Amino acid sequence: MLPVIALVGRPNVGKSTLFNRLTKSRDALVANYAGLTRDRKYGEAEINGRNVILVDTGGISGGEEGIDAAMAQQSMQAIEEADIVLFLVDCRAGLTPADQMIADQLRTRSKPTFLVANKVDGVNPDIALAPFYELGIGELFPTTATHGRGVRALMERVVEDL
Ligand code: GDP
Ligand code: MG
Repeated sequence: MLPVIALVGRPNVGKSTLFNRLTKSRDALVANYAGLTRDRKYGEAEINGRNVILVDTGGISGGEEGIDAAMAQQSMQAIEEADIVLFLVDCRAGLTPADQMIADQLRTRSKPTFLVANKVDGVNPDIALAPFYELGIGELFPTTATHGRGVRALMERVVEDL
């Protein structure tokens, strides 16, 4: 069984963009891995010579009222089955109640977690990152998933913990 790295975060923070960049759309054959749930997207990636499975949470469906509950359940399941969690937030949007909800979930677990402050392009990092440092969850890495900025530094650090 390969190590599992889960991407969690509220909708629209850039999880799928990062997933696609890292996996280069090589889909993992979920059937080959006992214990993986089928309702999430898995991909294989090689990072610094280490093969890992990445989990992209999201694809949340359901009505407006159900969306927070669905997100909470999805991210909790992904956190449970992960060896390492990448918690993505959106620097442009700032800290939101949905981010806080996921942060609360992570605090109830002791999974190694990295805080990925995505969409750092076009913001002043000194101002935009401050509220995320205050979350006190994991080492913080600013990234621009669309262009790959910061992604190598993040992943080099992540594989050190495998
Ligand atoms: P997800 O819902 O968390 O999977 O988010 P997506 O990966 O689908 O991205 C949501 C939107 O944010 C898309 O339009 C992406 O192109 C955009 N996006 C993702 N990463 C970045 C980034 O680093 N900077 C900017 N400006 N946009 C981004
Ligand atoms: Mg997505």
